[in-house]
Amino acid sequence: MANFDLENIPGIGPSLKNKLNSIGIFNSNDLCFHLPINYQNRTKLIQLSNAEIGNEIFIECKVSSCQVLYRPRKMMIIKAADPSRSILIRFFYFNPGQAKQFKANKIIRLYGVLRIGNYGLEMIHPEYEIIDNPNLPTEQSLTAVYRTTKGLSQNQLRKFIKIAIKKYDHNNEIDLKKYGLVSKLSLINALGHIHFPDQSIAIDDIAPGGHHPARQRLIKEEMIAFQVGMASLKDRQAHLKSPALDCQRGWYDSVLNNFPYSLTKAQQKVVEEIKNDISRTAPMMRLVQGDVGSGKTIVAAIAAAQSIDNNSQVAFMAPTTLLAEQHFINLQNYFPDYKESIALLTGVTKAKEKVKIKNGLKSGSIKLVIGTHALFQDDVSFLLLGLIVIDEQHRFGVNQRLSLRSKNIETALLPHQLTLTATPIPRTMAMSVYANMDISIIDELPPGRLPIQTSTLSLNKKDQLIDRIEKACSAGSQVYWVCALIEESELMNANPVEQTYEQITKSIPSIKCSFLHGKMKAEEKLETIDNFKNGKVQVLVSTTVIEVGVDVPNADIMIIENAERFGLAQLHQLRGRIGRGSKQSHCILLHNDSIGDIAYQRMDILKNSTDGFYIAEKDLLIRGPGEIMGSQQTGVIPFKYTDLMRDSAYLEETKEIAEKIYKDDKTNSDKLIQRWLSGSIEFADA
Ligand code: ADP
Ligand code: MG
Repeated sequence: MANFDLENIPGIGPSLKNKLNSIGIFNSNDLCFHLPINYQNRTKLIQLSNAEIGNEIFIECKVSSCQVLYRPRKMMIIKAADPSRSILIRFFYFNPGQAKQFKANKIIRLYGVLRIGNYGLEMIHPEYEIIDNPNLPTEQSLTAVYRTTKGLSQNQLRKFIKIAIKKYDHNNEIDLKKYGLVSKLSLINALGHIHFPDQSIAIDDIAPGGHHPARQRLIKEEMIAFQVGMASLKDRQAHLKSPALDCQRGWYDSVLNNFPYSLTKAQQKVVEEIKNDISRTAPMMRLVQGDVGSGKTIVAAIAAAQSIDNNSQVAFMAPTTLLAEQHFINLQNYFPDYKESIALLTGVTKAKEKVKIKNGLKSGSIKLVIGTHALFQDDVSFLLLGLIVIDEQHRFGVNQRLSLRSKNIETALLPHQLTLTATPIPRTMAMSVYANMDISIIDELPPGRLPIQTSTLSLNKKDQLIDRIEKACSAGSQVYWVCALIEESELMNANPVEQTYEQITKSIPSIKCSFLHGKMKAEEKLETIDNFKNGKVQVLVSTTVIEVGVDVPNADIMIIENAERFGLAQLHQLRGRIGRGSKQSHCILLHNDSIGDIAYQRMDILKNSTDGFYIAEKDLLIRGPGEIMGSQQTGVIPFKYTDLMRDSAYLEETKEIAEKIYKDDKTNSDKLIQRWLSGSIEFADA
């Protein structure tokens, strides 16, 4: 039978169907792919006298009594014993029917954690079965444990999955061996092993993350499917059209003339790549990765100039108002003769001004708009949007990125897309996650910069540190002092930013200090940054609002308070605010004394390297990709079973197979996409 509806499975009525739907199961195929999260071993009964306290065990006992107590709390207590020892079984949640089941002399099988209580051996809320036939055989395979929902028992799920696997249509099978896959197992064999593992298989091997060939088979097919999906996406993109933006005139000259430095080799190379891309009608989808401070903004500004020289408009997106404002100021400086055609649209833009800007975008009089999420709103549309620049791409949600693409009012032309990110993900990973994009890398910092010196210091020494700061500032230094805010409530009671600000102003009144946090009004923030920029303020105490977009080359000291609370990549990004001038810069990680090994390990990585790629890779290893690459951070990674870091060894093999299938076999390509990616592939289009 092909993939079939849940109603065709005996025992599934409307109510169970709803419950299955609620955990993402809609048909027999979904049942097959609802994989266990863990296993129990119920293949062998254990004698209580041989069992270890704390282990999950499977035992068979005879009931001697069952009592319901009401004090100290409602509880059902069953006394039972196997031939070797006696045991007490406690239930806190039960119904009267259950109490009647446990009659004296009944034989019961229990699966649960063995504990030791006041009266000897105990089990609390074990899974149990009352058996009539004492010779009942034990399970032949390990027992799978599934993610489920209230009212849908493990036993029901196991039964339904068994039926789905049995009735699996072998025509569904895609013969991947034909394309070079090395595996003895077909997909359905692999699924069978995973749901009902033979008792000889070690649980660690078959559990999620284990190395059993069945797991590998599944992961490889998922990776193949993903890469087939990406190839198909790339193909579809190639058939879409964007305006060809090939002339270079006034705006282009303007930005080159007004940028005070010469471009680094790496910048030149990326500028060239983008120029080529946008001069053609195939939509550009390019991701520029460059470490913090590597100079991505100017590269985007040059691309914007070329686009505008071809009578198209450019939207420049930033994740925060502060960053949008900084970009606005910088871009105005690059295009002094065109200031009238440049606008800033953020959440704090006044209503009247907003209307003006929106009209300007519709009529085409505004050529370059810098903005935040406000640009995504429905009533923003363009005469001809030729290029979208998305700065700090990982900070935007995928859906948001998508919605900008359909904003042209009079043409079906798609804007080219340039995304910038300082969050480097390892190259192999980038190639699969962003397989539908071309990647440029700025692998060089502007000349004359000295690597930042990073050190750690106990928070107990904060006072001494403040004294040192006084000396440094008297000698011309400027300091960022970053505080961690983890909860809003901290802001309510004692805002660490304002506390530290007060401590500094009291201890070293001769030094001019200011503070900055997200709750301040936009104008206040801007004024504070300006004062810091032009040297009126020497110490800026701040939250992580300065993480992106603040560019004060004279600042040469950064203190990060409670550094242990930040992720490595974020610390690196923060630290990138200094080391922008020609002076030697210093970063001091102030930490709590009671931190663990991992925290020390992480700070060490930062002390020893200023290479964002290296740090990101280490960050992944320590934290695991799940955390760092949540969908919020990098867009959607639609893998269910694959962990790219762990499974990167399969990338090469699966890539070759995927290419062959995509080239030779349309039916199987579609089948793979349908089976593994239905719904998610459009997402990758962002
Ligand atoms: P990021 O890649 O982190 O976005 P920015 O574009 O903000 O970096 O640039 C960081 C600083 O480096 C800015 O002050 C910018 O003016 C400066 N900069 C960029 N390119 C060069 C260059 N080729 N030579 C010297 N300074 C540069
Ligand atoms: Mg930047």
